[in-house]
Amino acid sequence: MSPIIILGSGLAGYNVAKELRKTDKDTPLTVISADSGYFYSKPMLSNALAQKKAPAAIALNTAEQMATQLNATVRKQTRVTAINPAAHTLQIGDETLAYSRLVLALGADQIRLPISGDAANRIITVNDLDDYGRFHELLAGKREKRVAIIGAGLIGSEFANDLVVAGHQVEVIDIANQPLGRLLPVEGGAMVRDKLQAMGVAWHFGTGTQSVDGDGAAIKVTLENGTTLAADIVLSAVGLKPRIALAQAAGLKVNRGIVVNKNLQTSDPDIYALGDCMEIEGLVMPFVMPIMHAARALGATLAGKPTPVSFPAMPVLVKTPACPTIVSPPAPGAAGEWQVEAGAEGIKSLFVDASGKLLGFALNGAATAERAKLLPLLPAVLA
Ligand SMILES: Cc1cc2nc3c(=O)[nH]c(=O)nc-3n(C[C@H](O)[C@H](O)[C@H](O)COP(=O)(O)OP(=O)(O)OC[C@H]3O[C@@H](n4cnc5c(N)ncnc54)[C@H](O)[C@@H]3O)c2cc1C
Repeated sequence: MSPIIILGSGLAGYNVAKELRKTDKDTPLTVISADSGYFYSKPMLSNALAQKKAPAAIALNTAEQMATQLNATVRKQTRVTAINPAAHTLQIGDETLAYSRLVLALGADQIRLPISGDAANRIITVNDLDDYGRFHELLAGKREKRVAIIGAGLIGSEFANDLVVAGHQVEVIDIANQPLGRLLPVEGGAMVRDKLQAMGVAWHFGTGTQSVDGDGAAIKVTLENGTTLAADIVLSAVGLKPRIALAQAAGLKVNRGIVVNKNLQTSDPDIYALGDCMEIEGLVMPFVMPIMHAARALGATLAGKPTPVSFPAMPVLVKTPACPTIVSPPAPGAAGEWQVEAGAEGIKSLFVDASGKLLGFALNGAATAERAKLLPLLPAVLA
């Protein structure tokens, strides 16, 4: 019998394999990954420097250990180049592999802005453990490094906090006028800005990055408002783009992500998707909690017990210890308004509709203690 094949060894790929193995120990299973196949927690990549964690300390298991643990074949550094749904096969270059059912856990790419300049190719992104290894090497050495971060969203703000605690000089550039602009109302954004600024982070809001040029060993970053910054490293963190190319070329339905139904089935009934590459009912949710819910449901489905997924409210802990922050944003386009209560030690922002129903929250500082009380009041993301 052809194996179930999972493409991707991130949290989505390995967790669905673990969930399958809870009840089905024997169905042949293959995990194929373009990267080194380590099992690791990706969120650690943006808070590992302050803890002085080298890349090896973040990897929890090797691909070989995962193969044993999962009773599976794990093929690392192997890129799948095409899928043929009608034939139930996939291609790794010239090699053809047959699958019984296929799971796409392909993740997302960091978006790259079109920035000019002769050092634009030196702009780095940190989206997996291998990237973190390169970043870690660039930061090594006796003296502190000057790091310019493009993007003050979740990942950019977390790296800013981590780098500054680790002793580096940090400047952050964003076209918005505040950090975490898509997650926090103005008041919450101001608290994150001020707390990080007090630790040494320099912000450049309301301006884009125009060009990145070499300046000897250093890098000159020119902003659209004319300011120039001197940096050793330029890190871009401006958002994610689900990896849909393989699915699209195979004729599967794609939109922003690979489109699935509540059984996590794509437009081909034997091909499933979950994680950062997936879109469900118009939602793309590039976070860990949705992966855990989807992996549990899909693991059961693959083991023979069809299980639709549901997503409760899933608050995200923003790893900016300088200003502890927990957000559970309202659904995109939800009608309502932020009601903000600012105290000396924290800010509680509640997003409510016209009838007063709570649709989302953003908690900063001491207000994060209210998470457990507010959580049961939130609507499910997908019931
Ligand atoms: C720095 C950082 C910090 C984060 N912090 C948080 C946080 O605090 N909380 C939170 O909830 N979320 C956080 N996230 C998001 C979270 O980590 C992701 O949602 C999650 O790890 C995505 O897992 P995934 O398995 O879907 O994708 P990935 O981990 O990207 O895995 C994709 C896999 O697919 C493989 N692949 C891709 N193409 C092919 C191909 N053609 N052939 C074979 N294999 C292929 C890749 O090699 C990889 O193994 C963070 C993300 C980053 C980058």
